[in-house]
Amino acid sequence: MSRILVIGCGGVAQVAIQKACQNDEVFTELMIASRTLSKCDELKDKIEKSGSRTKVTTAKVDADNTEELVKLIRSYQPEAVLNVALPYQDLTIMDACLETGVHYIDTANYEPEDTEDPTWRPIYEKRCKEKGFSAYFDYSWQWAYEERFKKAGLTALLGTGFDPGVTSVFAAYAKKHYFDTIDTIDILDCNGGDHGYAFATNFNPEINLREVSAPGSYMENGKWIEIPAMSIHREYDFEGVGKKDMYLLHHEEIEALGRNMPEVKRIRFFMTFGQSYLDHMRCLEDVGMLSTEPVNFNGTEIVPIQFLKELLPDPASLGPRTKGKTNIGCIFTGKKDGKERSIYIYNVCDHQECYREVGSQAISYTTGVPAMIGTMLVANGLWRKPGVFTTDEFDPDPYMEALNKWGLPWKVVENPTLVD
Ligand code: NDP
Repeated sequence: MSRILVIGCGGVAQVAIQKACQNDEVFTELMIASRTLSKCDELKDKIEKSGSRTKVTTAKVDADNTEELVKLIRSYQPEAVLNVALPYQDLTIMDACLETGVHYIDTANYEPEDTEDPTWRPIYEKRCKEKGFSAYFDYSWQWAYEERFKKAGLTALLGTGFDPGVTSVFAAYAKKHYFDTIDTIDILDCNGGDHGYAFATNFNPEINLREVSAPGSYMENGKWIEIPAMSIHREYDFEGVGKKDMYLLHHEEIEALGRNMPEVKRIRFFMTFGQSYLDHMRCLEDVGMLSTEPVNFNGTEIVPIQFLKELLPDPASLGPRTKGKTNIGCIFTGKKDGKERSIYIYNVCDHQECYREVGSQAISYTTGVPAMIGTMLVANGLWRKPGVFTTDEFDPDPYMEALNKWGLPWKVVENPTLVD
């Protein structure tokens, strides 16, 4: 029995909300609040036709505005807020949760919309020097809320998507059930789906392109090692997909796992990309289309990457066109009872099956389902403790069980092929 406020109604939100409404014993009441009210109302209609018993309401909100959020939370009185808008809104929504005394859940760590913002930029530059990685997103902004959430007796659960999210739960599960010590973690994100476009992104283009065009980095012996974008390349044979080229990227769960499992000697993240995607991205970057700095065009200020987002297919529209599977998981190496051990824990998800179930492709599905599961565990009290946490900091068992139940079954394979 819980009343939840969901902010955002894009690709990921649409899945998280539909899965919550399938799980109507837990999610008895749910409000969808986003910038474009018509999208919220359309989804409400779809859910009502599905026969779900969840009582759904909708509202318009500007999540950049804490006062507006506070007003909405006070009037709806949810137990928790699930933020599936954009990472730009993480801090305003956390502020509103603190002010109103409700739990907070999200799927991506904070980054600013304007990376030239003079109040943010010097702090970012200092962090780059101190920590050794230059991605625009990092946990420091949200970890800084730890004392305030603790004092208020509230839980903030950060990054409960697939990666981050499930991948960190896999790490906690491996540690609990398979290893005495974990030596290395390789997170592999393979999308074998084909949408038929020469170029499109599977989730918000702005966030996706910022992530992929940034320098790569990994953690070794507690230190960040940064490399030029796309400069470490491997081929891997994925079950359900086949052989794919993958590239080392910076990714947010490396930071949290590096802090929470300091005994792990090396943590890396690889994502697969096709040649067409990489060629387009390089070209767009070379001509300045990935820039976040506003430019003046015929008297109007435009941000190139936001303009590009308008030209690209809406990720939510890729569902009917995308065929193939994803395979996302983690390879762990380490020791158990004095012996070397290695395992791969992963999920294979089929784009078209996702589309048949909820009208979305597998990238939104593999993020939306864990967003629902994290929210459920906070709502039912199984994952509730005061402070700010990532998904590796709770008992992984109920989450793993819920993945099997709610559409993302996983496997454990012993002695997988390792990534050199
Ligand atoms: P979309 O762009 O599809 O959806 C974003 C939604 O947020 C839209 O409905 C948008 O409104 C709404 N929104 C944006 N700004 C505001 C605002 N100021 N006030 C209110 N609503 C707003 O993004 P995705 O669904 O692809 O991604 C959602 C989140 O999931 C992102 O944070 C992304 O980084 C994260 N993610 C996490 C993954 C993981 O595995 N952990 C993987 C993929 C994504 P409108 O409809 O008007 O545009």
